[in-house]
Amino acid sequence: MLITQLKSRETIEALACGKVFIINCHGCKEVSFPEKEAKALQEELAAAGKVTGILTTDYICNPENMKLRLSYHEKEIAEADAVIVFSCGVGVQTVSEYLETKKVYAGCDTYPLPGFQGVTPLEVDCDQCGQCYLNITGGICPLTACSKSLVNGQCGGSKNGKCEVDPDMECGWERIYQRLKQLGRLDLLKCPVQLRNYATDAEVSE
Ligand code: SF4
Ligand code: SF4
Repeated sequence: MLITQLKSRETIEALACGKVFIINCHGCKEVSFPEKEAKALQEELAAAGKVTGILTTDYICNPENMKLRLSYHEKEIAEADAVIVFSCGVGVQTVSEYLETKKVYAGCDTYPLPGFQGVTPLEVDCDQCGQCYLNITGGICPLTACSKSLVNGQCGGSKNGKCEVDPDMECGWERIYQRLKQLGRLDLLKCPVQLRNYATDAEVSE
């Protein structure tokens, strides 16, 4: 099972510096979602006039389901400067891949809990690292898209956009670079590296 926890209020308010469209995934039994806290915070953002629309749905990690649901909100999404997704890391990445010209941010961090974890028949994956990097990597997970799970940029072994560990695989950091370039956010690559806090894994599993 996974557990999602809201990012800090300060982080979410900073993500909502412009207008935002919000997606909540109340998804599957395998993911615990902080419904009440998320709703309260989102109501505050809406009261401040920062929200163009809210979609609360399930299984946004199912691309066909997600596309259909989002198609009913095209205008609200177009009006927003960014989309904030409150889900596990897989959901955020699925939305990010679909809305490729939009800034898509994670409102939650995803942690592991003992027990069954959902099986996702998708190309994107989340390692439940508890400290989600998607907001500075263009919605592409560096832990799962890079063979070495590097969080501080390309290793230098990539050739023609392919990974040196697996030549059949796109280099995850090349993808991150191209995506940030497309979004006009290459400045994010200059953010200080967020060192992984492995202590949180132990705390959550206790
Ligand atoms: S950075 Fe990757 S592994 Fe960590 S929570 Fe985000 S999607 Fe999951
Ligand atoms: S080539 Fe790219 S994906 Fe492969 S290990 Fe290096 S940075 Fe990671």
